[in-house]
Amino acid sequence: MRRVAVLGATGSIGASALDVVSRHPDRLSATVLAAGRNVDALVELCMRHRPEHAVIADPRLHGALRDGLASAGLATQAHAGMAAIDALAAGDACDTVVAAIVGAAGLDSTLAAARAGKRIALANKESLVLAGALVMRAAREAGAEIVPVDSEHNAIFQCLPPRDGRAERETRGLRRLVLTASGGPFRGRSRASLADVTPAQAVAHPKWSMGPKISVDSATLMNKGLEVIEAHHLFGVPPSAIDVLVHPQSLVHSLVEFVDGSTLAQLGLPDMRTALAVGLGWPDRLESGVGGLDLVAQGGRLDFEAPDLDAFPCLRLAFDALRAGGAAPGVLNAANEVAVEAFLAGRIGFLDIAAVVAGTLDALAGLDAHDLEALRDADRRARADAGRRLERAG
Ligand code: NAD
Ligand code: MG
Repeated sequence: MRRVAVLGATGSIGASALDVVSRHPDRLSATVLAAGRNVDALVELCMRHRPEHAVIADPRLHGALRDGLASAGLATQAHAGMAAIDALAAGDACDTVVAAIVGAAGLDSTLAAARAGKRIALANKESLVLAGALVMRAAREAGAEIVPVDSEHNAIFQCLPPRDGRAERETRGLRRLVLTASGGPFRGRSRASLADVTPAQAVAHPKWSMGPKISVDSATLMNKGLEVIEAHHLFGVPPSAIDVLVHPQSLVHSLVEFVDGSTLAQLGLPDMRTALAVGLGWPDRLESGVGGLDLVAQGGRLDFEAPDLDAFPCLRLAFDALRAGGAAPGVLNAANEVAVEAFLAGRIGFLDIAAVVAGTLDALAGLDAHDLEALRDADRRARADAGRRLERAG
């Protein structure tokens, strides 16, 4: 029996993970559920999945969670605070962690799970963008198995052979990774026409149903930029061997090209439960609730085009940050989180997101990244710098 901690249980990925878990009561059990602030939603999930532990990140909500669990008649233990999430991710209550907290807030629990040698179904790409080298090293040293559940990286994971029978992938003979991107809701639009788009338009993704932050990232193509950095760390591939291709149908989830000219791809309906089933079941295949792919019913065609870096400069900024190295990817990520939050709150315009990130990257070039403390410091400084830029943009 796999004992699964779902961190970010009340989110979009959390829901998909719990759907897959509930299909396999004989082999999967949700033993830990963690969420940010939504106590009611967390208690409801506890009623359905009866975990041993529930954690709310906001410490002020400890009492509310305890009372909610008690009045539902549940034996689930209530915990609060980020440190409690990290401790449960590392502790005996689980052997598998679905890392689905949104943003840099997911780093500590991902790292705790890696250091404790857990199977990690990794959705939280920001932890790799911020501290990819540290997370991957910790996983290697502790024997943790990272199975990416970001759909593109999950596709690549499925296309590359295992190394020593483990989750780590073999990249000998690899020439190039090609990450596919849907293009988001604004594909085909000019830069000038994007000045007045609203948060509601930006989160209305044509193919995937996702949380608000990643939906905005998909609209700016920053999501693909973060994924390029994620792929670099997961598979140890240099930026020059990672390409991005816009594929509006979102059926080909990525491609892997080998030196002999072969290209392998993974296809499927755009439903995150497939990737989560791989993350939870690998090397076994699990029923996920996702139907097969009927290419004729899907319109009978697969289209591809190059990304428009003029309309969507965030993708270029992410490549720049990856090539610059050091703390630059973390600075990019932090500035982006601040800018996206301000955009969702209606404080800045859509084009200001890229402008804020570019400004912060310029201002904080060359910051050190030799250890976790240096990375955290760069993250803090980038948030402060981006915050000051918002005042000017808004
Ligand atoms: P979401 O906004 O729907 O859910 C986020 C979850 O994180 C919620 O449960 C929330 O309570 C929790 N959370 C927020 N702040 C927290 C904190 N400080 N401590 C603990 N928990 C906290 O987001 P999502 O779309 O599910 O995305 C989650 C992660 O998965 C992101 O990193 C995203 O990039 C990645 N991802 C999502 C998808 C998708 O299809 N939704 C696809 C690929 C990758
Ligand atoms: Mg993705």
